[in-house]
Amino acid sequence: MGKLNIQIVPVTAFQQNCTLIWDADTNTGVVIDPGGDVGKIRKAIEDSGIKVEAIWLTHGHIDHAGGAMDLKDALGIDIIGPHEADIPLLSQLEKQAQMFGLDDEVRNVTPDRWLTSGETLSIGEHDFTVSHCPGHAPGHVVFYNEANGFAHVGDVLFAGSIGRTDLPGGDHETLLNSIRTVLMEWPDEVQFMCGHGAPSTIGQERASNPFLT
Ligand SMILES: [Zn+2]
Ligand SMILES: [Zn+2]
Repeated sequence: MGKLNIQIVPVTAFQQNCTLIWDADTNTGVVIDPGGDVGKIRKAIEDSGIKVEAIWLTHGHIDHAGGAMDLKDALGIDIIGPHEADIPLLSQLEKQAQMFGLDDEVRNVTPDRWLTSGETLSIGEHDFTVSHCPGHAPGHVVFYNEANGFAHVGDVLFAGSIGRTDLPGGDHETLLNSIRTVLMEWPDEVQFMCGHGAPSTIGQERASNPFLT
């Protein structure tokens, strides 16, 4: 089985970690959360020489989903996720862009497929388990590759912090429950990538994250 390669492309004014993940053997992969700066994402894809097979969305916030339709159209691929509870967010993206005064091309998103807990997605021979983790956004999902001890958790958990819960549909207790019942069930050595800032490990956050200790 090929190695899983990961490359971060920072996008939007929110410095969101758009993430390219691909299997080194087959050179096929996915783009997680293309929030904007689609030209920059396409350049990174071309430079890496990978074949992108799908767009995966963790949740419907503008910095994660704003560029998804343009990238979908450019590459002719499907948008997979998040959970359908994020329909209200995904259908308001253009309105949000106007409110924020973003000059970026932002479009409302209609995914080709919704996700729910327990589904499996694949990159080459690498399987990722989907879990619905509401709290930061109602339809937030995370992707866990148990065999490699790797996860992408979007804006659920950060190095030393957790996702904000003051946006529409956010709820602090719901988020803490998602973190406890899903992410904290993973082993300490699991490395995770998140939507903003540096990666971390489950063990590191279990031991020192002020929101969890
Ligand atoms: Zn978010
Ligand atoms: Zn974000």
